[in-house]
Amino acid sequence: MALSTSDRARLQAFLESTRLNTQSYLGYPVSKDFEFEDLVEFLRYPLNNLGDPFGDSTWRVDSRSFEREVITFFAELLRAPKNDWWGYVTNGGTEGNLYGLYLARELLPKGIVYYSQDTHYSVAKNLHFLGMRHIMIRSQKNGEMDYNDLRETLRARRDIPPIIFANIGTTMTEARDDLNTINHILDELAFSQRYVHSDAALCGGMAPFMEPRPAFDFADGADSISISGHKFFGSPIPCGIVLARKCNVDRIARSISYIGNLDTTITGSRNGFTPLVLWHTIRSQGVEGLAARVQHSLDTASYAETRMRNAGISAWRNPNAITVVFPQVAESVKQKWQLATANGQSHVICMPNVTRAQIDELVEDMLATPENVPQ
Ligand SMILES: *Cc1c(COP(=O)(O)O)cnc(C)c1O
Repeated sequence: MALSTSDRARLQAFLESTRLNTQSYLGYPVSKDFEFEDLVEFLRYPLNNLGDPFGDSTWRVDSRSFEREVITFFAELLRAPKNDWWGYVTNGGTEGNLYGLYLARELLPKGIVYYSQDTHYSVAKNLHFLGMRHIMIRSQKNGEMDYNDLRETLRARRDIPPIIFANIGTTMTEARDDLNTINHILDELAFSQRYVHSDAALCGGMAPFMEPRPAFDFADGADSISISGHKFFGSPIPCGIVLARKCNVDRIARSISYIGNLDTTITGSRNGFTPLVLWHTIRSQGVEGLAARVQHSLDTASYAETRMRNAGISAWRNPNAITVVFPQVAESVKQKWQLATANGQSHVICMPNVTRAQIDELVEDMLATPENVPQ
């Protein structure tokens, strides 16, 4: 039953390369400054949060009580309507977006989904799964939705309920679509039936702590919100949170007798470990600790932007963004720091673990490569 010596050696080598690869990345929005020693023992058990986190279940090897605390924490943070919210811990932002769109489709079967050009690549696939009609809206230069294009596109289809898929932090530039502006347009065109989903995969864990607070949550008119748990919060296993208005969820829930629970979640078996991870972060950091993390990241981003500009690199970032965007870097720099690159742009994402020393070294690398002469 034991591994062979060579297999052990292989795992050891993989551990070392994982450690090195984790040290150097700057281009992906994933925190790595976590410590979950307290949770290691739970890997000995087949934890599985089968079914609805809020229902009864005959299966008890689960962490659903912790999951409920996590969801309750986010419901308050995202200003969900009192006694009218529901949610669960997902496998990541993509699943939360799939859930939000699924709910929207069940409520507005004839609806059309509007989303911007800068929307995450996974959304087109979700729309394809669900077979929903959709129209892509132009983006502004900074990655935010072009509201004039949204208004004109909606105006031409006033007989069809709109489903707005808003980005709260786009993948390349961390642009945030503004729900105040979007709702204003929907009011202006007198849409009584509508649905707004916030894809806050990237910024949902940060936006509540920002000043001014971005318009993205339930109090700003969202009907559902998806957040990735392994991005700003940090987790060894991808995870996320989805929240929706309970009155909407109740309309589509179906009861299943096999587990004595409701079939409200996308998958049947669900991760029982990641709710403990999120709970651990919430309990150990608290609201104050999380707010300090956000401020630290913003300070690092401001440092990176200034440092690059002083070096003659035309770096920029959206207001209150931890993503700093700059012209595409040389292949060697891209590989060294694992920098995501698209449409001639690269970026660093100043997650809490990114240090000023790393930014300095990156800037030196950029200046040393001929493809990146100052412009
Ligand atoms: C990361 C991200 C997603 C996908 O989330 P996963 O957690 O990777 O499934 C969707 N939308 C945006 C804006 C993202 O940043």
